[in-house]
Amino acid sequence: MRTDVPLHRSLLVRVLAVSVLVSVCSIAATAWLTARSTTVAIRQEQGQALTDDARTYDTLLGYAAAHPGWDGAGKIVQQLARETGRRVTITTEQRVPLVDSDTGPPATLPARPTASIDPLHMDTALAAASGSSLTTGYSDASQGEAMAAVTDHIDPRAVGPFLLPRKERDALRVAAERRAACLRDAFGTVATIAYSPSGRPVLDTRGARPYSDTRCPSTVLDRPTATEAKALAALQKLVDSCLERRHESNVRLNLDFSWTRVPGAVPAQAADDGPRGGVVPECVAGSRREQLTPYVAPPALLFLSSRGGDTSTVFDLSPENQARIAGVAALVLLITVTASVMAGTRLSRPLRALTDAVRQMEEGRAARVEVKGKDEIGRLAAAFNAMAERRERLEELRKAMVGDVAHELRTPLSNIRGWLEAAQDGLADPDPELVASLLEEALLLQRVIDDLQDLAVADAGELRMHTEPVDVADLLTQVATAHRGGAEAAGVTLLTKADGRLHLVADPVRLRQMVGNLVSNAVRHTPPGGTVSLLARHDGGDVVIDVADTGSGIAPGDLPLVFERFWRVEKSRSRRSGGSGLGLPIARKLAEAHGGSLSATSVVGEGSTFTLRLPA
Ligand code: ADP
Repeated sequence: MRTDVPLHRSLLVRVLAVSVLVSVCSIAATAWLTARSTTVAIRQEQGQALTDDARTYDTLLGYAAAHPGWDGAGKIVQQLARETGRRVTITTEQRVPLVDSDTGPPATLPARPTASIDPLHMDTALAAASGSSLTTGYSDASQGEAMAAVTDHIDPRAVGPFLLPRKERDALRVAAERRAACLRDAFGTVATIAYSPSGRPVLDTRGARPYSDTRCPSTVLDRPTATEAKALAALQKLVDSCLERRHESNVRLNLDFSWTRVPGAVPAQAADDGPRGGVVPECVAGSRREQLTPYVAPPALLFLSSRGGDTSTVFDLSPENQARIAGVAALVLLITVTASVMAGTRLSRPLRALTDAVRQMEEGRAARVEVKGKDEIGRLAAAFNAMAERRERLEELRKAMVGDVAHELRTPLSNIRGWLEAAQDGLADPDPELVASLLEEALLLQRVIDDLQDLAVADAGELRMHTEPVDVADLLTQVATAHRGGAEAAGVTLLTKADGRLHLVADPVRLRQMVGNLVSNAVRHTPPGGTVSLLARHDGGDVVIDVADTGSGIAPGDLPLVFERFWRVEKSRSRRSGGSGLGLPIARKLAEAHGGSLSATSVVGEGSTFTLRLPA
């Protein structure tokens, strides 16, 4: 039987595959998780840090735009530090600390500030990152000639003298609400009211421009208030002197700091000044700065650092990311543990069954295990079953053998004992006839014991053979001669015939024993007038010796049993007329020891042929 297990069925390969799978799963999951969560976390934390920074900047810029100094900024700085978890330090442009969110030793300021806070020169990119509405100025910028709000980098929240007092503010609000109601009634336009940093209401009509319509006539809303007019006049003055200095013709400023040229005036130069460049915008922006300077906080530097002074950014994983990592790790653990448990159970179940079966066997009970699959364990189970079966057969054989041996020895022994007791009691005369009978019984006992020993030796594979070249024709003649006397007494004719010269390498004594056994059986089972023939021939590379008789024959059902130990067709037959019941088993063993075989064919009433086949 082939003992190699195909690779795809091999337990080793399967165990290896499971462990590789488990490792690959865990490594892949860990790698994926680490890469993903780290990337996501860093992106989130970075984004958050940036948004936080921009928001801080924007809030402080708003403060600076609305206050002439930094003295009252302590509270707002504290609040920002609390919200963002960072240290917020504001210094002058010469890095002299103005406000610090953390008390204790002054922060070692980094080489570069996070931003410069100057509402008159603001960082529009940073302000945009904060998500503030700075870039959506309050003015109606559709005039196209000028756009003041953000392109001049002045924070729209810096309103300075344009800040409306409560009274004006209220008046404008009433006017705006009326206008909104009018627009709704007259045009069905929904207008929302927003308020500019100076407190002026602005109507948002989402693109519709029904301002000039007579149905919603011009009101106080379309004119500058007294405060605005005053501030605008002051600004106009500054712009005029600037333009004059630069030899530029005058312009007229609007309330939203756009401008229109004074009709008839010819610009001295740069006639095609765009809305974003040129002398006029420069003058307007410069004048506005000049006008606003006393109202806004002086420029300052903003330093954002992590608390405790460490300026490097530290990314802590958010609770969601930590939960995700823990979740995926738990899932991987669950999968790997399940796979391992399944593989382990599949492995250990048949092993446990085998252990149980071995225990049963030890207790002398019949044991079999279920054979599943064709892997190593499946084969082990099959081998175990075969071994258990063989062991049971041998055990049965052993028991039967002991019984048979006892039975075979008891009969001649009790005969001897009976006669000897009778002689002792004077009931039988120990005459030569009795002695001869006792001797015959003793010889029978001797034969059974010799035969048993032969079989035991053969069973143990310890038959000693003395092989030599044998002339088969001679051997047949010798056997026939030895049995001729008995045959003649039984009225049976003995014939021998050999096809040509046949030679064998065999143990001549054992060979004579085998053939003699077959001949004595044949003579014994052939009625007077019958014939027993000894025929030798070549068949392929073998020498075949047939011992054929014209006797009673053997029933087909009994034929395979004649080679069993102690088996006889006629169970009741007297031992004197029969043998020990070991003749044929011994003959077969001897044939096998020579590398040959012994078989039988028979027809009831016609005779039997025993065929001894030996390699030449
Ligand atoms: P025994 O010593 O009883 O002859 P064997 O092993 O030689 O034992 O033979 C077993 C049985 O096989 C015999 O008892 C007999 O019943 C049967 N047998 C053997 N040879 C023949 C034969 N030539 N013709 C009929 N029966 C036979």
